Amino acid sequence: IGKLGKGKIQIPTHRDINRTRNVPVKEGIVHVGVGGFHRAHLAVYVDQLMEKHGETDYAICGVGLQPFDAGMRDVLREQDHLYTVMERSDKGSFAHVVGCINSYLFAPDNRKAVIDKMAHPDTRIVSLTITESGYYYNENTHELISDHPDIEADLKNVNAPSTTFGFLYAALAQRYRNKQDPFTVMSCDNMQKNGSITRNMLVSFARLHNPTIADWIAEKGAFPNAMVDRITPQTSQNDKDTLAKEFGIEDAWPVVTEPFMQWVIEDQFSNERPEFEKVGVQVVKNVHDVEQFEKHKLRLLNGSHSAIGYPGQLAGFKYVHEVMNNPQLRKLVWEMMQEEVKPHLPDIPGVNIDDYCKTLMKRFSNSTIMDQLPRVCLNASGKIPQFIMPSIAEAIMASKEEKRDYPFRRLCFVAASWFLYIRGVDDHGAKFAVVDPMLDELLAAAGDGTGPHGLLQIKSLFGDDLRGYKRFTDEMEKAMKDISEKGVLETLKEYFPEDA
Ligand code: NAD
Repeated sequence: IGKLGKGKIQIPTHRDINRTRNVPVKEGIVHVGVGGFHRAHLAVYVDQLMEKHGETDYAICGVGLQPFDAGMRDVLREQDHLYTVMERSDKGSFAHVVGCINSYLFAPDNRKAVIDKMAHPDTRIVSLTITESGYYYNENTHELISDHPDIEADLKNVNAPSTTFGFLYAALAQRYRNKQDPFTVMSCDNMQKNGSITRNMLVSFARLHNPTIADWIAEKGAFPNAMVDRITPQTSQNDKDTLAKEFGIEDAWPVVTEPFMQWVIEDQFSNERPEFEKVGVQVVKNVHDVEQFEKHKLRLLNGSHSAIGYPGQLAGFKYVHEVMNNPQLRKLVWEMMQEEVKPHLPDIPGVNIDDYCKTLMKRFSNSTIMDQLPRVCLNASGKIPQFIMPSIAEAIMASKEEKRDYPFRRLCFVAASWFLYIRGVDDHGAKFAVVDPMLDELLAAAGDGTGPHGLLQIKSLFGDDLRGYKRFTDEMEKAMKDISEKGVLETLKEYFPEDA
């Protein structure tokens, strides 16, 4: 980091102390996908363990698999792998320099180095933030998309992989041959049952290459499920300027985030693990507990992000807090959580859902972090089926069982907004970029884009059940028609009047 100024900055001392005293720090964690979220979440917990509790066995070796990760490689190399986390809220800003990333490997430079690093005996955990699309997971069949060209290529050439599962498999096969224990694979991505999905995808991949190794991974491997939370926008030039101006730190790629952070993880590790509890992580024995927390978070936080993102972008907004300042959209988010999502959520002892929702409304309204709508809209085909559709499906199921109509109109409004959003044109005719690995398929299925039926045919996203439920398809059809004709804000005024 170029210049460290004075003021409210915390600088890690653990590196200097360890270097001065010649304490050998082990890289016990290899992390794939060193983006904003990892640097604001897991890396911060690990840094606190090193700084406050003298942990030296779990420094992080970052790994980038994607060609665009060359940027992160260069910045971290230039800054001795240090970077700044700036927490911002209406209470002010606080900056701290994180020093737990010890090294960084860019896979396209040297694939073997990444495999060897994961297979190294010091490596206890390989953690992931590779986005939902990095899992090659078919939502509908719950299976690995084994005919995906990336997966087929990795299976043909297991010693020079390009996908996460290719690398995990190659490294685990090496450990198997060396008679070492497997490392724990710790997903920190936003997916319900992220650990179980990771396990299933990896074991399926392995089975297509070597069933003996697949059995060994299935038996000895560990894949904790986890709920992760900290809103972390993409870093902007403005963030870098603010850091330089307010704190005198010149950092080529800082992270800006909110003060709130949460991590609930299942205590399932294949060998030793850091004492995450010491830094406020909720380590729970029972996988069921994680699932409940995950369900709350994905349906309420991520579901609301969808309710902010797609209608917000169609209405012409740019930032999350701007959407929250609009009375109609704010009402949509609050009422969707309260009236349509909450009734289908489990009670968690010690958690008050109303307080959780109120805190979310405050977090979404944080204008200082400038959270971009394009970020929350990214890769919707991996999001809507997890964050919105399950609430609709459960409302339909409960309606059938209890013979009364549970509401899901707001949820449909959000899904319909996404169906229109993929065209990349807002209510004022302005164009915007749509980033989704399935975009071509979505546009082809949408046809002329006036109704939901084409898109609802995509089984891998929507399954078979919802299409046959008329109250749902009618709601979707009406919402798409009304939003197309009148725009998001007018339609909301009509559907959910202020005094209703
Ligand atoms: P980012 O764009 O800053 O970083 C994404 C990282 O994922 C990059 O390092 C990239 O190389 C890697 N990646 C992307 N596709 C990959 C693939 N196919 N294989 C391997 N690596 C791949 O994004 P981010 O904000 O760090 O978010 C990453 C993930 O973290 C999200 O998709 C989500 O699951 C999780 N998450 C993010 C937030 C947040 O607020 N940003 C909050 C909770 C969870």
